[in-house]
Amino acid sequence: MGVSSNLMVIKEKVKKSCEKVNRDPEEITIIAVTKYSTVERAKEVIDAGIRDLGENRDQEFINKYNALGSKPIWHFIGTLQTRKVKNIIDKVDYIHSLDRIALAQEIDKRATRQIPCFVQVNVSNEDSKHGLAVDEVIPFIEQLKEYSNIQIIGLMTMAPNTEDKQLIRNCFRGLKQLQQQIQKKKWQHATCTELSMGMSNDYDIAIEEGATIIRIGTALVGRNE
Ligand SMILES: *Cc1c(COP(=O)(O)O)cnc(C)c1O
Repeated sequence: MGVSSNLMVIKEKVKKSCEKVNRDPEEITIIAVTKYSTVERAKEVIDAGIRDLGENRDQEFINKYNALGSKPIWHFIGTLQTRKVKNIIDKVDYIHSLDRIALAQEIDKRATRQIPCFVQVNVSNEDSKHGLAVDEVIPFIEQLKEYSNIQIIGLMTMAPNTEDKQLIRNCFRGLKQLQQQIQKKKWQHATCTELSMGMSNDYDIAIEEGATIIRIGTALVGRNE
């Protein structure tokens, strides 16, 4: 399917989810995750009117960036090795996967401007997932105060890979509750206004639970196209 027609289907579903919970669809940013796709396909995404692109591997991100330039808004959404930070830091607009102090230190050291970051949280506590446990997040963010090039604009999570919609919902709800606790702190370095949650199979639930950014790969861009 073409990206444009996929996008129409997704926007309709976003609208329905928003209506259910009285939200404005304008509050939701769609990131097109192009990690399974060619540069050509990523161009199609941009032509369809999407400004936000997400990649999860440093090398593939750099390939796409070199081909498409700095006009798209680039989101780094995958696990980031500390030693790779220097290769991507001048090219990314957002990092969604901040999950340890060593990484924060390196971002702070290499960045020549403030980098808006999301703290990745493993709400469902699966061994296979990256991210901090829920009870580690507030102490972690508190420590980030001293890194002046890091701005915590939100939290990111991935829901468990399950058919059980209630489990998925609980995961997103847990992230929202954590966000509210952080916002109460009124930390200048961590406004934490954004929730990056929801992928192809669960973005409707994520929106109902407060997502402001959804990251859609398969349903929007497809795979290996
Ligand atoms: C791959 C990926 C997505 C998109 O996944 P789909 O199920 O294809 O929509 C979203 N977020 C992250 C972190 C990913 O790695």
